[in-house]
Amino acid sequence: MATRREFLVQTAAAGMAVMSFQAGHAAKATASSWAASTSRHDGVVQTVLGPLEASKLGFTLTHEHIADGPSYLNKWPKDRGGKAEFVAKAVDRLKLVRAGGVSTIVDLTTYDVWRDIRFLEEVSRQSGLNVIACTGERFFPPISRVSMPARTIEGLTEFFQREIEQGIDGTGVKAGVIKVGIIGKDVTALEETGLRAAARASKATGVPIRTHTDAARRAGESQAVILEDEGVDPARVSFDHSDDSGDMDYFLGLVRRGYSLGMDHVHRGVSAEFKPSFARRTECIKRLVDAGFADKIFLSQDAELGGSLLPEEMKEWRDKIDPPEGMLFSTRKLIPYLKGIGISDQQIHTMTVENPKRFFTVGGSQVAAQRRRADSSEMASTMW
Ligand SMILES: [Zn+2]
Repeated sequence: MATRREFLVQTAAAGMAVMSFQAGHAAKATASSWAASTSRHDGVVQTVLGPLEASKLGFTLTHEHIADGPSYLNKWPKDRGGKAEFVAKAVDRLKLVRAGGVSTIVDLTTYDVWRDIRFLEEVSRQSGLNVIACTGERFFPPISRVSMPARTIEGLTEFFQREIEQGIDGTGVKAGVIKVGIIGKDVTALEETGLRAAARASKATGVPIRTHTDAARRAGESQAVILEDEGVDPARVSFDHSDDSGDMDYFLGLVRRGYSLGMDHVHRGVSAEFKPSFARRTECIKRLVDAGFADKIFLSQDAELGGSLLPEEMKEWRDKIDPPEGMLFSTRKLIPYLKGIGISDQQIHTMTVENPKRFFTVGGSQVAAQRRRADSSEMASTMW
């Protein structure tokens, strides 16, 4: 069996073309564009540089980590080359990602894994990439050893809502998505608190939810029970790392209920260490697309760029789980491969541009309903 690197060399040698999506412009939006764009049609997403018309998101990676632990350098500003050098390095790498056809990155690094919101703001501004930051929390060890800001559903809801509506860490930079990290098949009491708080904050603010999901053990199903109990619209939820399952029955059950699936570990299947295989993961994507569910799939690679801040033992883990192409794996390898097995350009566009545009629009389904109402009344007025 080919090793992961051998496989990647083979796919490159097979002449698979690099996708060249038109990179969009970074968010230069202001409050006035928020008002203008909410007046009609597409709605807006919340980026670290402010509200942005959803139609400007472009090609979007929906589950990434620009750096693990960037807030570390706020405490130790001269360590590991210092903060300025770290920012410069991240910006250089992100410029390459942008040149490779990516327009927007959704950074799902929560406060408890040392998110640094000013770092995200700075690298977005300098690189020209749109960045959507998250609120939420990873509720399981070993990384998360911080004290929760609140331990009740109400307290945590308020914390998430504050990061969405007022801003993060007193900066005014707002979160555009809620991330919930849940480790096992069955949700623990603490994770349930987090999931219910995410549901309530999502309903109150119109911001969507993405969860870290143990798909191999069908964990999306146990999370869905709680989310539905809170009355969340499944269209506002993505179960990420879903391709760690290879079970079509599990996938079809969730997409038929209206949930989305983040296929963001596909590169891991290239290594024999991880199951299912790359072939199985991509086959499942193809079968879901063929079954008419391209509108429920996101492509990403859960990678990070700033590994220099990690302790040695974690760096080794990161090297093992991240693709050598980093955030360019989707455009350079995965998408050409998917096209090679028969997925069309239009279906790729749906998964990488249309789905993020709809999903990250603040208000999501309500905005779509309003648009439908506006369109039909416009049609009615021209008819009469
Ligand atoms: Zn992640």
